[in-house]
Amino acid sequence: MSTIKNAGSVLDMEYASSPQYSDSLKAFLQRRHGLYIGGQWCEAEGTERIAVIDPATGKAISSIAAGNGQDIDRAVNAARSTFKQGAWADMTPLERSKLLFRFAAVLEEHADELAEMEAVDAGKPVVYARHADMALSCNIYHYMAGWATKLNGEAIKLAGSAGGHAYSLREPVGVAGLIVPWNFPMVLLAYKLAPALAAGCTVVIKPAENTSLTTLRLAELAELAGIPAGVINVVTGFGAEAGGALVRHPDVDKVAFTGSTDVGRQIAIMAAQSNLKRVTLELGGKSPVLVMPDADVEKTVAGVMRGIFFNQGQVCTAGSRLYLPRSLHDTVVAELSAAIDNLVCGHGLDTAVTMGPLISQVQKERVLGYINAAESAGATIVQGKIPAEKGGFFVPATLIVNATSSMSCVTEEIFGPVLSIILYEDEEIEKLVSDANDTVFGLAASIWTQNFERAHKLAARVEAGTVWINTHNYFDPTLPFGGMKQSGWGREGGFEAIRMFTEIKAVCSGY
Ligand code: NAD
Repeated sequence: MSTIKNAGSVLDMEYASSPQYSDSLKAFLQRRHGLYIGGQWCEAEGTERIAVIDPATGKAISSIAAGNGQDIDRAVNAARSTFKQGAWADMTPLERSKLLFRFAAVLEEHADELAEMEAVDAGKPVVYARHADMALSCNIYHYMAGWATKLNGEAIKLAGSAGGHAYSLREPVGVAGLIVPWNFPMVLLAYKLAPALAAGCTVVIKPAENTSLTTLRLAELAELAGIPAGVINVVTGFGAEAGGALVRHPDVDKVAFTGSTDVGRQIAIMAAQSNLKRVTLELGGKSPVLVMPDADVEKTVAGVMRGIFFNQGQVCTAGSRLYLPRSLHDTVVAELSAAIDNLVCGHGLDTAVTMGPLISQVQKERVLGYINAAESAGATIVQGKIPAEKGGFFVPATLIVNATSSMSCVTEEIFGPVLSIILYEDEEIEKLVSDANDTVFGLAASIWTQNFERAHKLAARVEAGTVWINTHNYFDPTLPFGGMKQSGWGREGGFEAIRMFTEIKAVCSGY
C-alpha cells in the first residue's frame, strides 16, 4: 500500500485499463475523498493520503484519507452523542425499519454503480460484483430491516419464588466499531452494519485501506435514504493506526471485526485492555472439501471450481483443501485441469472475465511463495492462464496435485486461487474426518455425496461453523455465519447477528 504526502485525489488519469471506466466512475475517482463524521464530509487531521490502486493495472486511480486516532475520536464522539440523543435508538421501531428498507432499496438502485467501483478497487469481475456481492449485500439490508420491529424481550416465570415478576429487555449495545477487510467490502460491511442499525446502534466504520471507495459512496446513499446524521460515521485509514484507535477507544461498546486471525487476536487483547468492549471476530479459514466415492463428478467439479476460484480464492471460506478418494482422483483432477483452462482472466470491467487479479503485489507474492514451496516439496503444479500484458496482480488458477498434510499449502491460509488436492483411500473415512479437522481453523467445509444419511452424519462431525452439502460458498442472510476454533468468535447473519449487537437486561420486581 503506497502513501502519498499531500496529494490531491487524481494521481494517474491514464486509466490505462481496457475496457474504459465509465464517466460517472471517473467523476467519483476524481473527487477528493474525506471522512464522513456526524453527517458531514471533512478532511482528516493529518495530510497523509493512501493511493487507490486498480489491481488489474497496478495503477493509482484515486486516493483516500489516512485517518488517525484524533479522527477516530471525533467519529466516536459523533456516534455517541447521536446515540445519547436518541435520534436513532429511540425512534419507533417501525420508523427505523422503514428507513432501513428505504436504505436497502437505494442501495439496490445503485448496485450497478457500486459493482463497477468494486471492479476497479477490489479487482472483482463486475458481473460477480453485481450479482454476488451487491445482490447478497442488498438482501442482508432488506432482511435485517425487518428485525427492527421484532426485538422483544421475554416474560420470565421465576423458578424459585412465587411472588416476583420478571421480564427481559433487548437493548442496543450502543456505539459499535465496524472493521472490514478488502475481499468483500460491501458484503462484510452489510453483515455488520445492517444488524447494528436494526438493533438501534450508531456506528463508526473503518473500511480496509485498499478498498474504501464503496463504503464512502454507501455513506452518501445512507444520507439520501434519510438515515439521520451521526448514525453512520466512516473513517478511512490504516489498520494499526485508525483501526487500532477504534478498538482501543474507551467509548466504543462493541467491535465487530472481519479479517486475519493474527489481527483478530490483537483486537481481542486491545478490547480486553481498554474497556472490555464486546467483540465479535470473523477470521481466517482453511476449509476442507470432502468428496465421497459416490459423489456426482460433474456437479462436484463445478462446485469445487466455485468454492476455490470465486473472487480469485480471496474468500475466507474458500474450499482450499480438496480430499479426493483414490477411485475418483484421476477423473476429477483431469476435469479440474480442463476447467481452469476455461477461466477467463483479465480486467474485471470486461463482462466476459470470470477471474480477476489479486488485491495487491504483496498478496500476489505471498500466494506465489506457497506455490513455489509446494513445487519444491515435490507436488505437481497445474495452472490456468493469465493476461499476457504486463501490469496487474494476476496469479493463474493453480492446482497443487499430490499435496500432503505437512505442506504449508495444506496447513496455512493462502487466500488466493490455489487448490491443494489430497488423495485418500476410499474406505478410510475415519482418517479423512480426522485429517479434515486437523487444523486450527473451523470456518467452513463442504461434503459431496449422493448419500444423505452419510452427509448428515459427516456434517455433525466436521468442526466448522458452516457445513455445506453438495454446494460451497452458498450464503443467505438468514444463516448464522462464523467460525469455530481460531476462525472467530460469535456469528453474523440471522437472529444471531442481532443478538451480537444487543444487550439483554433482566428486570425483576419483588411484588
Ligand atoms: P487484516 O486482518 O489485515 O485487515 C482487516 C481489517 O482490519 C482492515 O480494515 C485493516 O485495516 C484492519 N486492521 C489491520 N490491523 C489492525 C489493527 N492492529 N487494529 C485494528 N484494525 C486493524 O485482513 P485482510 O488482509 O484485510 O483480510 C484477509 C483476512 O480476512 C483473511 O485472513 C481472511 O480469511 C479474513 N476474512 C475472514 C472472513 C470471515 O468472515 N471469517 C471474511 C473475509 C475475510
